[in-house]
Amino acid sequence: MRTKIVAGNWKMNNEKTETSSLIYALNSQGDFGSTRVIIAPSYVHLAQAVSLTVDTEIEVAAQNMHEATSGAYTGEVSPAMLSSIGIQTVILGHSERRAYFGENDATLAKKVTNALDHDMDVIFCFGEELEDRKSGNHFEVVKSQISNTLFELKSAAWSKIVLAYEPVWAIGTGETASPEQAQEMHAFIRNLVQEQYNGSLANQVSILYGGSVKPGNAQEIFSKQDVDGGLIGGAALSAADFTTIIKSI
Ligand code: PEP
Repeated sequence: MRTKIVAGNWKMNNEKTETSSLIYALNSQGDFGSTRVIIAPSYVHLAQAVSLTVDTEIEVAAQNMHEATSGAYTGEVSPAMLSSIGIQTVILGHSERRAYFGENDATLAKKVTNALDHDMDVIFCFGEELEDRKSGNHFEVVKSQISNTLFELKSAAWSKIVLAYEPVWAIGTGETASPEQAQEMHAFIRNLVQEQYNGSLANQVSILYGGSVKPGNAQEIFSKQDVDGGLIGGAALSAADFTTIIKSI
């Protein structure tokens, strides 16, 4: 059975005390069953988050990392730095990184390789813009984002990869893909992985949906066969909402 995952991307939100309060509140909700629960605070608060989640069901991920191992990259953070404070998962390829920080398939391929070289898990995000969907080009866009970045990986590396389909038009907009649109794209993605690798590998890969998932729509989206959980932005900033979403699986 595929792992169910709900991950919260906090983006550039929450200062030190808010980080602690949100983690305490999430911890107090307890018992998330077999669902893997991940939070991604800012770099500044990762060590704090790791220490507050020791011996809990909550894992802590980074929102990004640099593609190089070390060196003269002012302001950047390497996977070794993340590993050294107990971070085992990194989100890569978020649409905001692509749109505002110029990340492209080539950069992301290097980042994925570097994360895997440091034995980290990768939540790899991709998704089409509104114009792509309107022009019917969304499958092609998603296919090229995945294949350009991940299809050089050896089969064994895929045990460390989680895919996150996030249509850009649904992120932070309140507009979500319908459960049917999500299922259609997730099935397409799983099929792509099957064609490139094999059926058993494709069946093992968790594919998350992201884009305005809220307590009111999570259950219907998560009920779809190829949707294995969610990557949550805004609603992950409320312990009550995030917990309801986790328990919707
Ligand atoms: C995201 O940023 O990954 C995201 C899905 O945001 P939101 O849930 O706010 O749409």
